Amino acid sequence: MAGGPKSLVVLDFDYTIVETCYDQSLVKLLAVPLPDDLKALYLVETSWTAYMNGLLSFLHEQGITSDVIKQTVLESRPVKGMMELFQHFAQGQYEVIILSDANQLFIEWLLKDYGIYEQVEQVYANPVKCSDGKLIETYYHENQDWCSLSSKNLCKGKALKDHVEQKRASGVTYSRIIYIGDGENDYCPTLELSTGDYVFARKSFDLERKIKDNISEVAAKVFYWESGKEILQALQDIQQ
Ligand SMILES: [Mg+2]
Repeated sequence: MAGGPKSLVVLDFDYTIVETCYDQSLVKLLAVPLPDDLKALYLVETSWTAYMNGLLSFLHEQGITSDVIKQTVLESRPVKGMMELFQHFAQGQYEVIILSDANQLFIEWLLKDYGIYEQVEQVYANPVKCSDGKLIETYYHENQDWCSLSSKNLCKGKALKDHVEQKRASGVTYSRIIYIGDGENDYCPTLELSTGDYVFARKSFDLERKIKDNISEVAAKVFYWESGKEILQALQDIQQ
């Protein structure tokens, strides 16, 4: 096995690695209610990044520092069995990347807190900059117009394709792709997978429904999971 092609493991972040409601925890820091225009953004499914950006801006206006935001985000716990799954990734022939519509800063904080930051080769997510103490989230893709399955700020299918093509150009190919996710926006990259690849969709979340509604469109082998331990067992079976 040593020296052979690796499997590429692609993970979503929110509700796949981290069992998160950190946006709700951040709202609880406020002494005043959210402004109506911000609440309205929360209700529009395609405006998650705009909502998070508005929330970060409002937190700053209300005097909540980035240190307090960090402490709050770090209260988020990992999804059941995910740390065991990462222990397996550390031992095996895997390259691990993250494709997420969350922001890079929160992901970095949590990966470091969980002790798995070094295991992740690349994080594709919305960048964050800090200006005078205010955190500002920007879009990974600037108003993309090629994919109706994805939000304007991120097409995960394109990000995955770009990663594989860049690696191929540098001489790296993969034995298979293993995609692990939960959300509606994980469906576009699912369609990029081939017959030798695997998609793990979290049970009772949107990706499961989307795949079941369109199963004839999905070439990859599909598993449904509740815990990272089920994914671990499936990967061990695949390797045998
Ligand atoms: Mg998710």
